[in-house]
Amino acid sequence: MPELPEVESVRRAIAPALEGRRLDRVEISDVRLTRPEDPLEVAAELTGERVDRVDRRGKYLIVRLASGRALLIHLRMTGSLLRDPSGHTHVRAVLSLDDGSEVGYRDVRRFGTWLLLEPGELEPYLDERLGEEPLVAAFTAKGLGERLEGRRAPVKAALLDQRTLAGLGNIYVDEALWHARLNPLRTAGSLDRNELRRLHTAIRKALELGIARQGSTLSDYRLPDGSSGGMQKEFRAYGRTGEPCDRCGTPFEKIRVAGRGTWFCPRCQPAPA
Ligand SMILES: [Zn+2]
Repeated sequence: MPELPEVESVRRAIAPALEGRRLDRVEISDVRLTRPEDPLEVAAELTGERVDRVDRRGKYLIVRLASGRALLIHLRMTGSLLRDPSGHTHVRAVLSLDDGSEVGYRDVRRFGTWLLLEPGELEPYLDERLGEEPLVAAFTAKGLGERLEGRRAPVKAALLDQRTLAGLGNIYVDEALWHARLNPLRTAGSLDRNELRRLHTAIRKALELGIARQGSTLSDYRLPDGSSGGMQKEFRAYGRTGEPCDRCGTPFEKIRVAGRGTWFCPRCQPAPA
């Protein structure tokens, strides 16, 4: 599933195509994309709108419209945006823009969602579901500690919870915990100040590396021009069962935490006592 670096890479690539453009024609051909709303109605509401800006919050793309409304897109498992959808399969929606170009939404497994929100609805909707953005200046080690304080879940599970921090998923949590030298099974509320500082730095580092490589393509994730991300070639922990740790040479182990495959170095990331 696309995480913060993948969604941010899509945002950066698609924003220039959409910003300032009017939606001359909108076709939504999948009832699952907009449910419970009727896709024909959503398409009619979008038609004629002008795109002000494309933002991101956590794993959501936010298409801000000149009317003050916002189209909130979640790619879920296999959703992607395409700058030129012609010739692609599994295209579920097409935006025809006033410069004659098209932006398509493709989704093989059809878990992605499009939600059209009225002015004033966006912030409360997101605030209810998402914690802080990990890449903004306001995100501090102290703030992270407050989010984790008293929590008995494993730190990995706490970081996967979008209300702790917005945008982390299975890949970047494993990467961040490796950078921080923290075992994924550590109790979230047990981290001391030094460990919280390491984790704070590590989360940013893992996400920034992911953005610099335009995300990771394991199966379906593609950039809007159809190209793949490059981060999958540079994982330090994720998916590396049996491979040597880059820091100490110890083979990685795989366990399950919060129902997710989890990779860690048993030497650099010692198990809790
Ligand atoms: Zn190691």
